[in-house]
Amino acid sequence: MDSNCLFCKIAAGEIPAEIIFEDDDLLAFMDIAPQAPVHFLVIPKKHIPGPAAVEEQDQKLIGKMMQLGARMAADKGIGDNFRLVFNNGAEAGQTVFHIHMHILGGRNMGWPPG
Ligand code: 5GP
Ligand code: ZN
Repeated sequence: MDSNCLFCKIAAGEIPAEIIFEDDDLLAFMDIAPQAPVHFLVIPKKHIPGPAAVEEQDQKLIGKMMQLGARMAADKGIGDNFRLVFNNGAEAGQTVFHIHMHILGGRNMGWPPG
């Protein structure tokens, strides 16, 4: 755990969130500022700063994130049409430097993203 990290604090239960799934490795919770009718985040409990910091030993964990995201999307009624987003770096829109996967759905999505 990184004691300065917002998502580590959410994973530790120190900051409240609307948690929709939790197991030993992962946490899923609703985004505080939703950008679509359904918008939640999946994070590993392990502190990884972002996609560029993923290492060989994290491959299974990252795969689990995608599987969980798709499953929770189905639970939320957007299982057939949803977007997964990982931002890496401030210029790409990353504001929290603990890796997280956005799952957005419930509206039409534009392409390319802004
Ligand atoms: P990023 O911009 O780093 O890809 O995404 C960070 C996301 O975390 C944003 O969509 C933002 O709304 C969300 N977020 C930031 N702080 C909190 C918080 O305290 N609680 C929750 N649930 N989401 C947060
Ligand atoms: Zn963290």
